[in-house]
Formats: sequence, C-alpha cells, structure tokens
Amino acid sequence: MPTTPKRIIFLTGSLLVEAGDLLWNNARRLLGLRPHGSCVVLTYHSVTSEERPLFARQMDTLLRYAKPVRADIEALPPKGGRYAAVTFDDGMQNIVDNALPELEKRSIPTTLFIITDVLGKLPDWEYFGPKDTGQERVMSEEQLRKLPSAIVEIASHTMTHPVLPQIDREKLAQEVEGSRAKLAKMLGREIKLLSFPYGAFNDDVVDACRKAGYERVFSALPYFAFSEPQEFLTGRMGVYPTDWPIEFRLKVLGAYRWLPFMFDLKRKVLSRLRGQSARELGLKPGEKTA
Ligand SMILES: [Zn+2]
Repeated sequence: MPTTPKRIIFLTGSLLVEAGDLLWNNARRLLGLRPHGSCVVLTYHSVTSEERPLFARQMDTLLRYAKPVRADIEALPPKGGRYAAVTFDDGMQNIVDNALPELEKRSIPTTLFIITDVLGKLPDWEYFGPKDTGQERVMSEEQLRKLPSAIVEIASHTMTHPVLPQIDREKLAQEVEGSRAKLAKMLGREIKLLSFPYGAFNDDVVDACRKAGYERVFSALPYFAFSEPQEFLTGRMGVYPTDWPIEFRLKVLGAYRWLPFMFDLKRKVLSRLRGQSARELGLKPGEKTA
C-alpha cells in the first residue's frame, strides 16, 4: 500500500478524474446519449478478523455503486452500467473465515487465485501489502475443495509465486501449466483464469499463459476491465479493507485508472533525465559512473 502522502496525491487525481467522468456523462445525457459504462476488477489479499466489519462495509458500498459480476464474464450487457468484480490473490485462510461469509450474505460472486504448492502452509514469498501476512496461513486443500462453488470461482496464481518475467521459459511454462493442471485435478473442473504474482508480466508471460490454455489473465494495472468481450489481458485495482471510504468508492468507480499512465510518464521522464545527465558527464549510453 502506498504511503499516506502518496495516497492523498492518488486520491486527489482520482477525484478530478471522477469529476470529469460526471461532467462527460451528464453532457452525454443532455445530448440524449447513454452514459459510458465501466467495469473494475478489485483485488484483495487478506481480510483479518479485525478487518471483517470494514470489508463488510466496503461490500455494501460496492453494491450501492456497481453491479457485481464474475471475473470470467464474456460480455457486459447492457452497455452503460457500472460493474465490479471481486478477486482475492494468494488463497489466505482468513479469506475463507472473514470474506466469503460476507460475500455469500450479499450474493457477490468472487474469484480466488490460488498458489498450488503452498496450500496449508505459511506464505514464504515477499508480501508488499499494508500488513505482513507472514503469520496468516494459506487455506488447505480440504478447505479449497469445500468452497461454495455457487459464488466462488477457483483460478491459478502459479505454483510457487515467482516474479514470472524473471524466470526462464521452461520454469515459466511449468508454473503456469502445472498450477492449472494441479487445480483441475484437485477440483475436477477446468481452470480458465490466472493472475500474475506481484502483477509482473511481459509478452513472454502472456504468450505462455495463452499456450497453457487460459482464457483470461489478470495484471495489477487498474484499467477498466472487459472493454472487449473476449479480453485476454485484464487490469485490476488493488484494494485493502483499510482503504478510506472515499478511496474505496473511487476505486469501484474506476477513477484510479489514470495511475498506469502517470507511472509510464514518470518512467519516461526519469529515463530521459538520466540520459541527459549521462550526456552532460560525457558518458556513452548505458555506461555507468561506477
Ligand atoms: Zn500474490
């Protein structure tokens, strides 16, 4: 989770985006046109028992501002509505204990992205959330089998949670194909979706997932989702039970979708500045000072 000053900057930018959306949609209504619709896929990692009331309140907010949909949805009829999908990465046990009962109560469908080789264990990967989930156990295989299939879709989050662009092709194929096959065998149903650990991906990772037979893969970039019916690479918005109410509401409305463009711009400006300072020092491109 970003630091508080960053959260305030992101929130301010998102308020401006939402104000722009409201103006634009009002103008469309005045012209007799249907307002633009949106769909956002939200990603949680952990909901502790202390956070359960906060999570419950967020689900009420979600129902007030959007219609919940499944993450494997093929199309979004009718156009013009606001939609949101709820997903969880890592398969923590506290999701079964604290989040699923609240979702069932409200008939909100969800997708759990599971790491096959850590079921029933303590997480051994690096976690970057607001609270270290190191002491929270991952759900067991038995718990996974017993999940209510009417609202829960099971999907892959690889076998061991590696940074996929940093591993070799053979290992990459193993991680995406192996986790899909293992889950399918365990649950007796087809596994269609995968989310990238740490949101990290490149073209090779996307190709490997297509080859493995997935129907859709999820990043951590908060673009609007499902702009095309058969969308393969879909963006998601990271959310936390501790998000401020206004922050969560703007995330559900898709007002944080400007962030990937801002990060991209920042990267380009920084690399240009680095190139300029290297030229000023008389260095060749790629040459370092030490
Ligand atoms: Zn993860």
